[in-house]
Amino acid sequence: MFAREIRDPISALAGVKAGSVVEKALAHVGVATIGSLLCRYPRDWEDRTRRAPLKDFRNGRVCSIVRILAHDWFYAGKTRTLKIFVEDDTARACLVCYNRPFIKNQLVVGNDYLIYGDFEFKYGEIQSSSFDFEPADTGAGRIAPGQILPGQILPGQILPGQILTGQILPIYPLTKDLRMAKARGLVKQALDAYLSVIEDEIPQSIRERYHLLTKARALKAIHFPESMKELEKAKKTIIYEELFYLEVMVGKRALAKRSVMRRTPVDTDSCMTRQKTPDLQNALLDRLPFELTEGQREAVADINKDMDSPYPMARLLQGDVGSGKTLVAFLAALKAVEKGGQAAIMAPTELLARQHAENAAKLLEPLGVNVAFLTGNIKSKGRKQLLQNLASGAIDVAIGTHALFSHDVYYRDLRLVVIDEQHRFGVMQRQAILAKGDAPDLLMMSATPIPRTLAITVFGDLDVSVIKGLPPGRQPIVTHLARESNEGKVYEFVRAQLKAGAQAYFVYPLIEEGELDLKDAVSMEERLATEVFPEYTIALAHSKMDEGEKRLTMDAFRRGGIRILVATSVVEVGVDVPNATCMVIEHAERFGLSALHQLRGRVGRGTAQSYCFLVYSDKYTEDAKARLMVMLEHSDGFVIAEEDLKLRGPGQISGVEQSGYIRLGLADPVEHAAILEKARADAFAMLEADPGLLASDHRRVAEVLSRAPPFNDVGV
Ligand code: ADP
Ligand code: MG
Repeated sequence: MFAREIRDPISALAGVKAGSVVEKALAHVGVATIGSLLCRYPRDWEDRTRRAPLKDFRNGRVCSIVRILAHDWFYAGKTRTLKIFVEDDTARACLVCYNRPFIKNQLVVGNDYLIYGDFEFKYGEIQSSSFDFEPADTGAGRIAPGQILPGQILPGQILPGQILTGQILPIYPLTKDLRMAKARGLVKQALDAYLSVIEDEIPQSIRERYHLLTKARALKAIHFPESMKELEKAKKTIIYEELFYLEVMVGKRALAKRSVMRRTPVDTDSCMTRQKTPDLQNALLDRLPFELTEGQREAVADINKDMDSPYPMARLLQGDVGSGKTLVAFLAALKAVEKGGQAAIMAPTELLARQHAENAAKLLEPLGVNVAFLTGNIKSKGRKQLLQNLASGAIDVAIGTHALFSHDVYYRDLRLVVIDEQHRFGVMQRQAILAKGDAPDLLMMSATPIPRTLAITVFGDLDVSVIKGLPPGRQPIVTHLARESNEGKVYEFVRAQLKAGAQAYFVYPLIEEGELDLKDAVSMEERLATEVFPEYTIALAHSKMDEGEKRLTMDAFRRGGIRILVATSVVEVGVDVPNATCMVIEHAERFGLSALHQLRGRVGRGTAQSYCFLVYSDKYTEDAKARLMVMLEHSDGFVIAEEDLKLRGPGQISGVEQSGYIRLGLADPVEHAAILEKARADAFAMLEADPGLLASDHRRVAEVLSRAPPFNDVGV
């Protein structure tokens, strides 16, 4: 059995009831099965095997035996907080126990404890507020070091037999309702129960060549390594495996491109029986109230040529925000439909997917093309019918979020995959949607440029079209910087625009009031509605809102019923409301350059003059100031991306590092370029020598691809 084939639900583990909050918390991060639990790797490890005295606190975490000197209390705000003074052989320090007054009874003055934690120099002393501990005197009946008791490791709480030191502990990304102790305990249980049945996924000859671990051993060691050395080996094994399969997929596309008779010839009969207008693209162009721009026309010509060729297309369409990429995607989709196939258009957010679906309904359905909208939120009966229609081919164009590649979604003949805002998706998600068709054409769209060298390694072979320029009649957006204290003037300016019939966005860095002294969307909506713009309709849009409610709000904003939209960066990608002419970004100093550029791109989408106000508070950093200046001076997204790169410095490739271009489980094609190269060479050599994967050593690869394709069912 391959790890991903372990489809038993998480609730099969002790301590997780079906329907419990833990099960839901895991499902929320895409972990529904024990197999996916095992493949959700720690984000870090804590080496508690080596002692690190207090005086060395700057070198990393402290792991030392300390004596408790005294307890003290102080007030942090209104709460009485415990402070404990400790010392080891090298230094004195203090432990600050926020919200943990009970520690008073656990750390007894005069006794010795093993402390593990992050320390820093603050208020003239070495301090930690994040630490674990246990009694230092290892009494009888204690469990041997290294032994792990599932579910018993609770920070700051001593339980019988609890072991917090003397071993390397995994640190998992947590979510609300999923505590570290629980995460560790569940993985440990899963390993104990399933390790013996887990099969290797890479050919034995390769494993031996690089001295990699078996899959079972690598999984055990990635979660609970016995030594840092073993952990390194496990990482190397898993990274190689991920990159190997990535390159197997890339290689299959590249080879398919070379073999002419790859694709089943177009079935012209079925085209006829569908009784569609044969030239759907021109039918759409005829209906548009405007002409394509030069850039759009060229892009469509490139795409048509690719899609008419017998080789699968792999094309990246770059064009600044507002350049009209969506329309190009629709024309490509029509091409796929003309050929009797289906197209899937994937967007990173439900908001954007819905907007595309609505536009498609308006533009494509009158041509007799059936469009469907699919997201994770569409449940039960409607969904079942929709999936049937996709499988039967009754739906021509499916538009949605990552739900488009859920395991239960089948396409009759997926010919084209369009990935909008492509930098928001990871490699695995892209591979997962491609796996739904037989080497479908791929069109990726983005306003964020990607370095070509990286593109080629990750995508195999990639062509690029660039839409230069914006549709005619667009005026450059006028950008103003404004101090927070001048916000009143900004509001008055916006009022004049509203009076003239336009609409406005107000964007904030936070949804709700938080600890930081920042304006937030919820309170500002209230304030703008009651104090500033009582005469206009105002609504709120943010990611924590119910999707249905958000949809109604966006619909009303698009139709003009709502004049002011108060939002967080949910409106950052793709939202298209041409009547909106004002974008007010408050605390602009808190946003990154690409977000600012995307946000500004929400206005200036019609022919009216548009404005962007970057309102900043006095507490900005030098970096923030530099970003705001770039926004003031430049409007071209490509230039802004370059400036972004300069500001961030080398090592942080803009639009790559922070984005999803290269997100795999553990591997990072940039950081692990050397392994990637080997994996690529190995995968390509194998495919060239044995395309059918028939050799005994390769059959394992064929089995993995058919039984547990590595890029299917990718959670987000
Ligand atoms: P982006 O490239 O940022 O995804 P969109 O596809 O959202 O841009 O297009 C921005 C706006 O420009 C939309 O309202 C769209 O209808 C309009 N548009 C697209 N192409 C043209 C064109 N050739 N002439 C005029 N308006 C256009
Ligand atoms: Mg777009």
